Amino acid sequence: MKWLQMNVNGLALNYNGFAIDGVFDTKTEEAIKNFQDRFLLNSNGIVSTSTWKVLNDNVRAVQNLLNLNGYRAGAPDGWFGPVTTSAVRTFQSDNGLYPSGIVDPRTRQRLFNPRPKDNYEYRPSSNDLTSLHPYVALLARRFLQLTQENNLDIRITTAFRSWDEEDRLFAQGRWAPGQIVTNARGGDSYHNWGLAFDAAPFENGKMSTDTQKFIQMGQLGQQVGLQWGGTFKSIVDYPHFQYTFGLNTWDLLNGVRPAW
Ligand SMILES: [Zn+2]
Repeated sequence: MKWLQMNVNGLALNYNGFAIDGVFDTKTEEAIKNFQDRFLLNSNGIVSTSTWKVLNDNVRAVQNLLNLNGYRAGAPDGWFGPVTTSAVRTFQSDNGLYPSGIVDPRTRQRLFNPRPKDNYEYRPSSNDLTSLHPYVALLARRFLQLTQENNLDIRITTAFRSWDEEDRLFAQGRWAPGQIVTNARGGDSYHNWGLAFDAAPFENGKMSTDTQKFIQMGQLGQQVGLQWGGTFKSIVDYPHFQYTFGLNTWDLLNGVRPAW
């Protein structure tokens, strides 16, 4: 059990701060569900053989890369133990990253895709559709047109979100004041890759508070092929739309890009 928690923690999935004490509490279960969602496994929080395998394989991939780069992570045994943690710290220090010992998104990118041709890490935030992947922008335009035809005044509130801004949002409710609004660090949200946008219905120039309008908006978005945050299981997110090309954010950090 402690092994499991160390792996989840080392892979930067301990976003809700469970204690690494070998007790399978609800926070540990939530983190497992987050991991299962990411890899399209049945997200029931139960650590099945397949969940174990994917989790350990992910640790092994990190260990192999560290070793390959001269950071001694020990035998690639799939356990995120002290030797691996220490190797991650050294790697982070050498790369000007905060030496947390966990493979957070920026560390992941530096390790798996050290020289990205299209570095999203330093792009500025924008609420303009041109900041999105061209296919996602196309879907967003179709969606806006459809909402107009249905007499809804829909406005885009966020398109591309910078990694720094995402980190600030992640801090909120954790080590900064406010309520928790996201479980994603910078680089771990589809907004940070131009594959998501937020929208809201407006009435008389003000954002609507009418849930029905949001639901109507969400249905229209789904009609054009977008995934709507209103259908999410973990954090239900009415303003949110995304199109992922079947990639999770670790794929993107590792250097995989949409084929389109
Ligand atoms: Zn969003």
